Amino acid sequence: MMFVHELRCSVCGHSYQPGEVDYTCPACGSAGTLDVRYDFDALRRVVPRESLTDCADQSLWRYRALLPLAEQAPVPPLHVGGTPLYDAPRLAQDLGLAQVWVKDDGRNPTGSLKDRASALIVARALADGIQVVTTASTGNAAAALAGLAASVGLPAVIFVPASAPEAKIAQLLTFGATVLLVQGNYDAAFDLAVEASARYGWYCRNTGMNPYTLEGKKTVAYEIAEQLGWQMPDAIVVSVGDGNIISGVHKGLCDLMELGWIDRMPKLIGVQAAGSAALYDVWKRGADPATMVPINAQTVADSISADLPRDRVKAVRAVRDTGGAFVSVPDEAILAGIPALARLAGVFAEPAASATYAGAQAALAEGHLQPDERVVLLVTGNGLKDIKSAMRVAGSGHPVAPSIEAVEQVRARLGLPSFG
Ligand SMILES: *Cc1c(COP(=O)(O)O)cnc(C)c1O
Ligand SMILES: [Zn+2]
Repeated sequence: MMFVHELRCSVCGHSYQPGEVDYTCPACGSAGTLDVRYDFDALRRVVPRESLTDCADQSLWRYRALLPLAEQAPVPPLHVGGTPLYDAPRLAQDLGLAQVWVKDDGRNPTGSLKDRASALIVARALADGIQVVTTASTGNAAAALAGLAASVGLPAVIFVPASAPEAKIAQLLTFGATVLLVQGNYDAAFDLAVEASARYGWYCRNTGMNPYTLEGKKTVAYEIAEQLGWQMPDAIVVSVGDGNIISGVHKGLCDLMELGWIDRMPKLIGVQAAGSAALYDVWKRGADPATMVPINAQTVADSISADLPRDRVKAVRAVRDTGGAFVSVPDEAILAGIPALARLAGVFAEPAASATYAGAQAALAEGHLQPDERVVLLVTGNGLKDIKSAMRVAGSGHPVAPSIEAVEQVRARLGLPSFG
């Protein structure tokens, strides 16, 4: 908490001292997510950009001075962050953009960007002497919390929809979390975790309720900037469910602008599934996200399925303030993005992450991106998280008898080259 000086409500602007409230603004309820604010005058003096050059730590803790955690506080041992940013020229050509990079956050320890948030939450839980952590999740936040908690021996209670992809549930169980399979959707699980947290005193990681998840996620923006030598791209494409990731990316970029480490703000393109497009709709209508009502979300991209996006206010702000846009893409386009990213960049993404490929296409078609622009696609989750969806679009293998003659028949049929 070295440089944190207040938590400010994103709706009413009221300021709280760190430690005064744990979750959202008591006056504004669930829409009133808190913004963790830092003393940038002090940070500019104490943490010059050059200080990173000598930092050997390649995880998200290299940005520790910019995080809400005391200098000496212990952190979980898993390697979170420091994920690769790939230049993907064939993907750029395919999309019709000047340059495309893929930031592969599926490379985190439990396979999604959510590890950035859970690493910070678990570090804070350790610092605060917390005994039990809990969260609701469509799967990835839960896997992240379960994994990071397991790495330090902290008990975790997880609320997930019983319909979550099997791989994600397997992760939770394997990490030893107590898994409550909610017979309802994510939003039902969310409300249960809130109630259980209040009743039992468990520390709740719920996205868009706990102000610190976004602080962990913002580190992905720091990494992108540092990996590009502080020369910002024209746009960053981010898939959006609750809106916490895109808000985190925006926060990270705003921090870097305040620090004077970058001099240009990229457009943020928020991608929603057509069946879960509450934020796209609000943005399109120019309406106020604070007064949104729940929809009935339905999409193959489970990680971005949300009836009432929890970080609705900040997510719409992220897009509006950067001159970006929301786009809405159908499930077929999301699924088609899986082999596209895999074959053109070698990155295997789950549907919520392959949505960025479809989103970039839509943003180009709608004029939110231009062909001469340089764009980062943020891949938020690993393809192994949801094999069923991948298999719908992966194609199929070729049965072959165990003889080289049979192989030869298949080879000839497929037209595979022979150099023998
Ligand atoms: C959680 C998640 C998202 C969306 O993040 P929000 O903060 O809910 O908008 C996107 N992709 C993946 C893989 C996720 O796990
Ligand atoms: Zn408020």
